[in-house]
Amino acid sequence: MKKRKVRVYRGYGSCENRFNIEVYYTCGEHGYEYKLFSCMKCGEIFVFDMDNPNAHDKNMKDIVINMTCPTCGALLMDFIKEYPKYFVCEYGVGHFVPDNIIPPEAESLIKEFWEINLSES
Ligand SMILES: [Zn+2]
Repeated sequence: MKKRKVRVYRGYGSCENRFNIEVYYTCGEHGYEYKLFSCMKCGEIFVFDMDNPNAHDKNMKDIVINMTCPTCGALLMDFIKEYPKYFVCEYGVGHFVPDNIIPPEAESLIKEFWEINLSES
């Protein structure tokens, strides 16, 4: 698995009775659509390019079949979930749903995540 840089925005998710847990999310502006996923065992974050023509109509669990998390070694099909809808933090599993408003690009930042790549499966 290789890392890939993606433009993300900062959001604040909630977990238990905390509401200020920093998470990242992507927006489908600029014609690209990246989705983020997380390993629910260790919290590692992954990016997946939704424009990949081989990915259409496929469930993420089928895409990551036989892939393991580079951080904790877990089988991703057992632990992968949409991020930051679900995220792992020190308090447990948190949740975050971004607004439908796309924030100004000036508020974005570039982060690097492991890329789930179909050609590796
Ligand atoms: Zn993991």
